[in-house]
Amino acid sequence: MIQAPAINCFKSSTHPQHPDLKAFLTEKLSNPYNKYCLDCKKNLTTHCIVWLGVFVCKDCAELHKDTFGGNQYSYIKDVYGEQWDDYQLRSVCFGGNQPLFTIMKEYQIDNQHMSSKYRHACVTWYRKKHITLMDGLPFDIDTNPKPPKDWDERVQQTKQQFMKSTENL
Ligand SMILES: [Zn+2]
Repeated sequence: MIQAPAINCFKSSTHPQHPDLKAFLTEKLSNPYNKYCLDCKKNLTTHCIVWLGVFVCKDCAELHKDTFGGNQYSYIKDVYGEQWDDYQLRSVCFGGNQPLFTIMKEYQIDNQHMSSKYRHACVTWYRKKHITLMDGLPFDIDTNPKPPKDWDERVQQTKQQFMKSTENL
């Protein structure tokens, strides 16, 4: 096993955030959906999941790191305790808890455990869309359709894809 080396890194978190940045983040978190944690819906939000553009509380942020083995899946930032670069801020600009909350409700995974909820096809679809928008690229809904909700819809979607594929024959 390789341990992370103990080095004295330069920390931008020891420098205060620019007042304009702080004002922008405060404004974002004042939105009623962003104010409370997307996961537990009880605690006030303090952290951002950058690859999804959503806000969670400190406890749930820790749980995300434990569940997904660090930052590679979620990429969590302390909203007021860190500096932000322009790319990370695009996540906050395009994101917000409401769109993902709506999708989780739609697919009825809202109350599932974090490990299955965030691995569900609708969340990985949303994550892909969000990162594409952060990159400033168009997200083609035809080649990246929303995942089907149930078996009937799955059959219907496969049928449509089949019809489309035979159109040009
Ligand atoms: Zn929480």
